[in-house]
Amino acid sequence: MKNTLVIDIEAEKQEILKRYRALLRASKSTLQKGDKKEIRKAFEMALESHQDMRRKSGEPYIYHPIAVAQIAAEEIGLGTTSIVCALLHDVVEDTDITLEDIEREFGKKTAKIIDGLTKISGVFDYNSSLQAENFRKMLLTLADDVRVILIKLADRLHNMRTMDFMPRQKQLKIASETIYLYAPLAHRLGLYAIKSELEDLSMKYLEPDTYKYIATQLNEKKAERNTFIKTFVEPINEILQEQGLIANLFGRPKSIHSIWNKMKKKNIPFEEVYDLFAIRIILDSAPEREKADCWKAYSIVTDLYRPNPDRLRDWVSSPKGNGYESLHTTVMGPKGQWVEVQIRTQRMNEIAEKGFAAHWKYKESSNDNGLDQWILKVREMLSNPEANALDFLDDFKMNLFSDEIFIFTPKGALLQLPLGATALDFAFEIHTDVGAKCIGAKVNQKLVPLSYKLQNGDQVEIITSGKQVPKEDWLNIVVTAKAKSKIKSSLKEEKRRVAESGKEVLERKLKSLKITYNTDNLQKLSYFFKLHSTQDLFIAVAEGKIELKDLRDYVASEKEVENRSNFHAPGEGQHIEALLNKVKGPESDVLLIGEDLQKIDYKLAACCNPIPGDDVFGFVTVGEGIKIHRTNCPNAAQLMANYGYRIVKAKWNRQQELTFLTGLHIVGIDDVGLINNITKVISNDFKVNMRSITVDTNDGIFDGSIKIFVNDKDHLDNLIKNLLEVKGVTGVTRFDA
Ligand code: MN
Repeated sequence: MKNTLVIDIEAEKQEILKRYRALLRASKSTLQKGDKKEIRKAFEMALESHQDMRRKSGEPYIYHPIAVAQIAAEEIGLGTTSIVCALLHDVVEDTDITLEDIEREFGKKTAKIIDGLTKISGVFDYNSSLQAENFRKMLLTLADDVRVILIKLADRLHNMRTMDFMPRQKQLKIASETIYLYAPLAHRLGLYAIKSELEDLSMKYLEPDTYKYIATQLNEKKAERNTFIKTFVEPINEILQEQGLIANLFGRPKSIHSIWNKMKKKNIPFEEVYDLFAIRIILDSAPEREKADCWKAYSIVTDLYRPNPDRLRDWVSSPKGNGYESLHTTVMGPKGQWVEVQIRTQRMNEIAEKGFAAHWKYKESSNDNGLDQWILKVREMLSNPEANALDFLDDFKMNLFSDEIFIFTPKGALLQLPLGATALDFAFEIHTDVGAKCIGAKVNQKLVPLSYKLQNGDQVEIITSGKQVPKEDWLNIVVTAKAKSKIKSSLKEEKRRVAESGKEVLERKLKSLKITYNTDNLQKLSYFFKLHSTQDLFIAVAEGKIELKDLRDYVASEKEVENRSNFHAPGEGQHIEALLNKVKGPESDVLLIGEDLQKIDYKLAACCNPIPGDDVFGFVTVGEGIKIHRTNCPNAAQLMANYGYRIVKAKWNRQQELTFLTGLHIVGIDDVGLINNITKVISNDFKVNMRSITVDTNDGIFDGSIKIFVNDKDHLDNLIKNLLEVKGVTGVTRFDA
């Protein structure tokens, strides 16, 4: 097939200029004398160096850097340096322009930021096996200049917005990376609007059906929702005005991704998600009146509507670590439904929308704030060069999303820790040595174990002992990335010490057996004793698990092997490579499921139980062949983001009549004959075999789980549709059997 692209050069030129002028308008609020000239220079350099390049969509490439700069200025609120860097973010990577050119034209700072952006661009490389290492690099640059990450987020956001022209496999990979790392990062940096959009866009590609379903539902109920919001807000607005408060009130829809999360978490259908929106009250307050005004508004709202006492959140008195300030409450609305109300001032709202980083760190003078402390922590974690990149990333990610608690030291100083942190975390937070020597703690004067989970407002004193050393099981007690990485490196150090002594012992023993001490023999020994590394071998020797007589066994078996053939230990790298080559053959690189059963060893993953018709991919495992996962499997994002090179495309081959085990969760109003009617639909109408059925009824509520064998997704979807028509059934959802 041949595509003809007709390009109107003159029209394109006009469009480029139009977009450039829009960018200037967006950056107006931060422009100072001379800034406009800098931006113009950067724009011209980018325009010229990208001039013959086009995006996958066929558009001129320059649209992309302009859009990234526009996001940086408008949605993150960054200033001229960042706008210049955003315009030039792809030139060093993709064109002849060098970092020296940039430094000459724009100065050191700009060159440094672009260097950071260029270094982490490898994250985009689909074939790269080093994603985890790349993420780590990216976080390292954060320690240098947070603007690198902010521009990278703008870049990612624009790429996600314009991903329709990418091949499906690449869309999945980029969307996975985004949900795995970029969205949490945006959250941690306080960029809530960008975080929500990244999550929604990821979902659009990872779970297109559900995404479309929820979007349609939201759209259908729009008018109804707006009427409700109007009647809810009107009386509040009246009293606010009477009391002299100027405010802007509106309803804000929740993101599709967060609605979907709620549906999954509570196992409820769309109709039962009550908080599809939140009411926002933005006050126009003088700086010294901010806190008092917020509480005044709170009082007005709760005079009109009864609040749920468990749902009051006061981030005005103690802002979140990322700078978020707001007062949240949930009240009972006029129609008997809970409504979340968020109260904040215009300044607080600006921070909530655009993030603390941009607003404070680079617009005004630097403040001592939570974000600085957080970046300091990241820097500390990164200073441990031995940490395994992937472990590090997992620990780090856990800390991105967590809520915070506030803990007092014995002297009354305040420390912030993630929710779920233990006394041991607190000890490591104070100092590495205090953590390493910790044997217990006093919380509010009472003695507690290391594993004690801290509560907001606790006052904690750590008890140490000179004899204490970090233990392996401490890793299960702590939740902060800092404590984890410190414990890991100290355990490693201990291991190395033991290994060192084992090595000496082994050297002597091998000498007495007349075996040469060299890498080759050490590897053979490790393989013989089924150990993963030579270090494990040394440790086994040091701990007396391998003695002289065991080594003699080895000598005997070696002789036998020599008689037969040359000896080769299979490496796991070779194994993965071989499997990948088998699938990614010259003719086709799609694994057809249900075919090639003998040729390629694959299994359906137990974590998500795919059935034919599900969107799936193959993942090459170490030792267990290829596993087939659903693209919306809870593990998929992690796998795709970190092991892109081990992903193979997979498709169902529909020719065979096979059945697959899956589960349905059915809820409803218990009625005489309900179970009977359900099983009738399953067994008689659909001729589906049931493997098991468990039913709970509680005060008239029916709650059943059924495991069934189905042919494919269409089959299952039809069955669900028919079950929903059974009288009394209110919800049917699939779960992974
Ligand atoms: Mn880019």
